Amino acid sequence: MSVEVMVPTALRGFTEGRASVATEGGTVGEVLKDLTKKYSSLATHLFDKEGRVRSFVGIFLNEDDIRQLQKEATPVKDGDVVLIIPAIAGGSPGAVAFPSLSKLKRTERELTHAQMTRYSRHLILPEVGLSGQRKLLDSSVLLVGAGGLGAPLALYLAAAGVGKIGLVDFDVVDASNLQRQVIYGTEDIGKAKIDRAEARLKSLNPDIEIVKHNVRLDSSNALSIIGSYDVVVDGTDNFPTRYLVNDAAILSKIPSVYGSIFRFEGQASVFGYRGGPCYRCVYPEPPPPGLVPSCAEGGVLGVLPGIVGSLQALETIKVLLGRGETLSGRLLLFDAMGLKFRELKVKRNKDCPVCGDQPTQRGLIDYQAFCGVGTAPTVTVNEVDPEELHQELESASPPVLLDVREPMEFEIVKLPGAKLIPLMKLPERVNELSTADNIVVYCHGGSRSATATQFLLDMGFQKVRNLRGGIDAYAQRVDPELPTY
Ligand SMILES: [Zn+2]
Repeated sequence: MSVEVMVPTALRGFTEGRASVATEGGTVGEVLKDLTKKYSSLATHLFDKEGRVRSFVGIFLNEDDIRQLQKEATPVKDGDVVLIIPAIAGGSPGAVAFPSLSKLKRTERELTHAQMTRYSRHLILPEVGLSGQRKLLDSSVLLVGAGGLGAPLALYLAAAGVGKIGLVDFDVVDASNLQRQVIYGTEDIGKAKIDRAEARLKSLNPDIEIVKHNVRLDSSNALSIIGSYDVVVDGTDNFPTRYLVNDAAILSKIPSVYGSIFRFEGQASVFGYRGGPCYRCVYPEPPPPGLVPSCAEGGVLGVLPGIVGSLQALETIKVLLGRGETLSGRLLLFDAMGLKFRELKVKRNKDCPVCGDQPTQRGLIDYQAFCGVGTAPTVTVNEVDPEELHQELESASPPVLLDVREPMEFEIVKLPGAKLIPLMKLPERVNELSTADNIVVYCHGGSRSATATQFLLDMGFQKVRNLRGGIDAYAQRVDPELPTY
């Protein structure tokens, strides 16, 4: 049997860049085994120690989740396509918010003449009309994160006349945001995103109420904040917030609109809507930290969050109107480079800990801990400060520099003489290093290199240290001539 396996961007580093691989086998399990025979370093990403498919990797046969079929024993036939769909998250690492909200009064509202004109293209659309526009004006949406996804989301929801938009964000506008966060301008650099977004949305549509939430969204306040809205949209795209938003939405019995981006691939769906599945039904557990690169490491094509965020805005409006066929029960995949949309069926899992028939989790948990954030093995490795490294590099016996970032990052800025071995390639290329050398490992901010340092220590290297704060700290503290990114 010849079966094509589709490899996601995040794992193509292990398949020599191939997006699809022809394999042989009679079952999905055999096909995956054949794939890992061809590309052995993929195995640890797909299977756990017992040889089972990892819970944060979805395997689909054509458009069906194999967990809904016969799992790895699901038979395959000639021409079938097996898709590997790992959990992805490419966004910024946080989100914040503010509690106490005043509920909008739900009265039968009359549209003013100005509103008639403003929303006229909705009013003449039979699927929206006057009653639909009233619904939108009486609706409330909580938007978690005002970044790449949040920008088009906020703009389109405000333009469409969603009556109350809650914004959760604590970040300030950085110059590197402007490549995709189209709600901000150059003059906004250094200012609070939430304030600049509010000003922009108010200018776009003075009709609507913007509620700014200025406390960190966490397990202690998420229910009280999310519970006062009709729909919640996750625009942060990081794992702790995604699981927090999902669980809080399910517990509050409101739908959540999901979107995620990575490099040039996106995903979108609607969860907890009319008996449909939730994110936990698809990915019960998050991937371990470090396995999924962030946007800061992996990059993101500027237009991509615009497309995925717009899809989220579209789905939000359909949910508010109660019209159309939403993405509930479907996971939409978008490949910007191939300009291909594909969709997979996702079903509610009756054993889901949050939305299942007998939920085992009836409150919120510590999502930072659940996602392993802050528990990375960085504390155990020896570190060297940028100033100290600078002195050593000037000395008669400078250390060997190992750069574990991606080639594109290496091209932007590097330390002279550094050897490049991206973190993911380190296991197969470790023999290019000598245990006799005194090695200093660095990356962008010091976290990937800490993982690499620990790996080298485990491999028997003894003279290996991590550059604290990465090349970013080195550029700021030692050599301001170096470009930062
Ligand atoms: Zn669920």
